[in-house]
Amino acid sequence: MSALANKHNAVNLSQGFPDFPVDPILSELVFKASRDGHNQYAPMPGLKSLRDGISNIISEIYGVHKDPDKEITVTSGATEALFAAISTVVNPGDEVIMFDPSYDSYEPAVILNGGISVRIPLTFPSYTLDKEKIISAVNKNTKLIILNSPNNPTGALISKEDFNFIKEIVLKNDLYLLSDEVYEHIIFDGLKHYSVLPDEELFKRSFVVSSFGKTFHITGWKVGYCTAPEELTDEFRKIHQFLTFSTSTPFQFALTEYIKDIGKITALKNFYQSKRDYFRGLLERNGLKPFLCSGTYFQLIDYSSISDEYDLDFAARLTKDFGIASIPVSVFYKDKTDNKVLRFCFAKEDKTLDEAAECLKRILR
Ligand code: PMP
Repeated sequence: MSALANKHNAVNLSQGFPDFPVDPILSELVFKASRDGHNQYAPMPGLKSLRDGISNIISEIYGVHKDPDKEITVTSGATEALFAAISTVVNPGDEVIMFDPSYDSYEPAVILNGGISVRIPLTFPSYTLDKEKIISAVNKNTKLIILNSPNNPTGALISKEDFNFIKEIVLKNDLYLLSDEVYEHIIFDGLKHYSVLPDEELFKRSFVVSSFGKTFHITGWKVGYCTAPEELTDEFRKIHQFLTFSTSTPFQFALTEYIKDIGKITALKNFYQSKRDYFRGLLERNGLKPFLCSGTYFQLIDYSSISDEYDLDFAARLTKDFGIASIPVSVFYKDKTDNKVLRFCFAKEDKTLDEAAECLKRILR
């Protein structure tokens, strides 16, 4: 969709990346690290100072200690962490449960490791877990469950009840859990993010994946990390060692300094909540129906009252004829379920969101 957006010079709310500049302080820290000579390989698990800083973030935000030496590994984006975690536990023939709509990098990693993906649709339109379907999907070959909350593309947060349900299923069946929490700091309306990190029992069977890309508007830097108990981290690092070996050194030095101020992270909620409210206001004033959005920087819109076109066709037409690019949500489903829903990314300057609203207004005319 980004390629189509460029071709038609459309306002691009499709791919999930911010269009505002990175904090100049952070840019300067990268230049400084490079000027100071930090340009060679970083240690395989990540700079010790950065892992210490990450451990500090975890204890400040979740009130729990994770060992920077044994439980935290810096990776080249969350994408690498996801692939390494899946490779750590999935052997040929193992089944992996994931929920549709599902982020696109899970299934290929499972298949490349010889595993079988079992994709269970979330209940529509609440995007909650379908417990019956999950219970009947678990069998002796099930190895791993992949969870993503706050969720891309739905913007939904897992409820306490659903979290406890997953916990019970994982523990009862000796499964592993891969918890993709890359949007962990983008939560709205004072809601609580149920992270796996503070849950001692569940954490013992889990990999928790985070990304600085989402938190500091630096998706192009590709710096993330995986937090997992020592036994799992030992195995995870064997994969990471031969996937990328280590992550860009000057970026790690820059982030080490930057995350000393935890306020930079806690400020994110309000920053994105005002973007969300601004964008939703524009949509509602134009008679469009936004879904509930409790986290992430994605807003779903139900367009069924405007058109009954297949969502891929509708999204392509919006891009070509009305100059606004979005992502059709059917692409996140194994069977391409079309609920007439589009995903818009609101991690954009207000003027970009205004332009997007102007395009949407023309559709409704
Ligand atoms: N998980 C989810 C749910 C995502 O939305 C993304 C980025 N789009 C990633 C993982 C990958 O993060 P990174 O850019 O740090 O590799």
